[in-house]
Amino acid sequence: MKVNVAQVRLSGGESVHYDLVEDFSAFDLGIEALSFQAPVHVQLQVNNTSRAMLVKGTIHTKLKATCGRCLESFEYSIELPYEDEWAFRTLATEDLLETALILDKDDIDITDRIFEQIVLALPMKFICSVECQGLCPNCGANRNLTPCNCGEGVIDPRLAALAKWQSND
Ligand SMILES: [Zn+2]
Ligand SMILES: [Zn+2]
Repeated sequence: MKVNVAQVRLSGGESVHYDLVEDFSAFDLGIEALSFQAPVHVQLQVNNTSRAMLVKGTIHTKLKATCGRCLESFEYSIELPYEDEWAFRTLATEDLLETALILDKDDIDITDRIFEQIVLALPMKFICSVECQGLCPNCGANRNLTPCNCGEGVIDPRLAALAKWQSND
């Protein structure tokens, strides 16, 4: 995923727009059963603010994930705002050296930077839907697909004893 800032580098106020698409499927997302299902689409605007290149845009892609409740795989869409600062090493101030993407030449490969943004935005747990009922802890049925009867007929033994005592009354 490459950009070139030659056009905007020379004067403050210059800007350039990029629309990039790349296949990230070879990247390891570090979580089992999590992979890229669609190419990564990055749209960004690079503005030369004199201090640095201010970058604003969006990152879009789709992942194949496994639901932590029902264990089914599902498509997880990522739509992420992307804001960044890029600065040439020779011109970068100390704070920029710490936070910005440091450039040594006009051609920049931003693949790793974009991948980093995606990884940082991943949730702790993937859930297919807020309504996901998960698996029955008793019979293992996917309760989104098969309503099982495990919940019925299970009575607290103390209440059962009470019910029996009352019926003898
Ligand atoms: Zn689920
Ligand atoms: Zn059940």
